[in-house]
Amino acid sequence: MAKRDYYEVLGVDRSAGKDDIKRAYRKIAVANHPDRNPGDKAAEDRFKEATEAYEILADEKKRQTYDQFGFAGVEGMAGSGGGFGYSTAARDFEDIFGDLGGFGGIFEQFFGGGRRRSGGRESVQRGSDLRYDLRIAFKDAVFGTKSEISYPKEISCTRCDGNGAEPGTGVRTCPTCGGSGQVRRSSGFFSIASSCPTCSGEGTIVEKPCTKCGGSGRLKKNQKINVSIPAGVEDGRRIRIPDQGDAGPKGGPAGDLYVVVRIDGHEFFERDGYDVYCVVPITFTQAALGGDINVPTLEDRRVKVKIPAGTQNNKILRLRNEGIPQSGTSRRGDMYIRILVTIPQRLSGREKDLLKELASLEDDNSNPKPIPLADLR
Ligand SMILES: [Zn+2]
Ligand SMILES: [Zn+2]
Repeated sequence: MAKRDYYEVLGVDRSAGKDDIKRAYRKIAVANHPDRNPGDKAAEDRFKEATEAYEILADEKKRQTYDQFGFAGVEGMAGSGGGFGYSTAARDFEDIFGDLGGFGGIFEQFFGGGRRRSGGRESVQRGSDLRYDLRIAFKDAVFGTKSEISYPKEISCTRCDGNGAEPGTGVRTCPTCGGSGQVRRSSGFFSIASSCPTCSGEGTIVEKPCTKCGGSGRLKKNQKINVSIPAGVEDGRRIRIPDQGDAGPKGGPAGDLYVVVRIDGHEFFERDGYDVYCVVPITFTQAALGGDINVPTLEDRRVKVKIPAGTQNNKILRLRNEGIPQSGTSRRGDMYIRILVTIPQRLSGREKDLLKELASLEDDNSNPKPIPLADLR
């Protein structure tokens, strides 16, 4: 079967930046994610095709090889299995699929496990991941910021080191299950195994529970940490902070903390990707005669913008490189100024006289002809 060009698959330019590629991939992958489209073969194929393209284009070396030699150069570098678990793409996946359920399953399907989290009686249990929603101001999102956050989490008990036993006392085999962690009960022809109710599947019980944590091995604590928010962060971005989630039970490893960034609106600016929009009023004489105005930037500077003579209402003017910084690059988006022509509502006698004189020079417009809607864009 003929393969589609990787750039075409993701719908990006050959000059597209890393972030553009990631965004394009994420859009396709989320829409066609097999967990969201069960049984839809076409969606699964689109998902696989986009994933393969992303694996190559997200990696600078592989992308270079692909640009130079095409598919022949990167054959076997992407695709399911094949020890691909440590590529650039793979490391990004958690970030990309973070807010989708079933991430683990998909990851294992495409990268052949390796990240499966421990569970069950034999291995130690990992603590829960936690989520913190952080609201930040519009401009903090534009220029980046540091924020101290405080949240409750489970830490390993300081008295028993997390094993749940009062110091000096021991741990013994659970008498109910004999250490297997499971109890079986018969139901008709079947014998059903379930987790032991006495030891919660641990297989052991403590002789005397720790007096500080009551035997759970964990304590609630209010944790304070500093979070760095990168410049140009988008609304909804999840920032992973490793090992700052709950401690695992019985001394197991800690989960991660996910800080979800929420950006407040701004009085004057609106954002679309890396571009910023702003509406600026001018008088109708400025619109007719033209002139210079100074418009506000994100940095609270003023930059001079030339209004051409005969500027119509809603005209959009572009200010290059006055938009949002693109993280990891020196590039910025643009600012778009929409011109709103204002009509005076109170006129002095002198103004009225001048306008009447102007009106007497105008062509008669008492029977205006409608403007074709197609001309309005
Ligand atoms: Zn304890
Ligand atoms: Zn038991």
